[in-house]
Amino acid sequence: MREVFQVSQGQLMRTAIYPGSFDPITNGHLDVIQRAARLFDRVIVAVATSEAKGPLLSREERVDLVRRSVSAWPNVEADSFAGLLVEYVRQREAHVVVRGLRAVSDFEFEFQLALMNRKLNEQVETLFMMPRESYIFLSSRLVKEIASLGGDVSEFVPPPVLEALRVRLAGPPL
Ligand code: ADP
Repeated sequence: MREVFQVSQGQLMRTAIYPGSFDPITNGHLDVIQRAARLFDRVIVAVATSEAKGPLLSREERVDLVRRSVSAWPNVEADSFAGLLVEYVRQREAHVVVRGLRAVSDFEFEFQLALMNRKLNEQVETLFMMPRESYIFLSSRLVKEIASLGGDVSEFVPPPVLEALRVRLAGPPL
């Protein structure tokens, strides 16, 4: 009991990293973040540069949207990283990587990634979390597609993202 108490007092700060492209952050991501925030002292939502994926939003925009979307949770912060995830995890003195699992289709890639990260650093553990069923079909890619076709995505993203998409859509075509 004493050990548990000490952990909860923050002597042993439990930090989890939630990495992803977050292009943009959706309510599905936020569902996972909220669950993780209940389990860890600190959750760092780490926006990957993801240049190869040709993101719609810049890294700075994505980090800013994450920051504004998680502001209600004091133990959640936004950051970005480039390069190897396991290296970033080490730098931030974390040991756990959180990933979301929506469906079997996510599983193969996530399984491969988790085992590769373990191979690169034995100390890093990957924790998979499932969102509420209503978010299982939700992805950043679909949100962008629907928004670019003029569809209503207000149910799927937090208000700062809705506004950012609206501004972007009013500008040059996606
Ligand atoms: P990546 O480019 O790394 O896949 P994403 O931003 O698409 O980045 O996703 C980050 C993580 O969040 C991944 O583990 C992904 O499976 C998970 N995720 C994405 N959308 C959802 C959702 N609707 N519910 C739960 N997890 C999700």
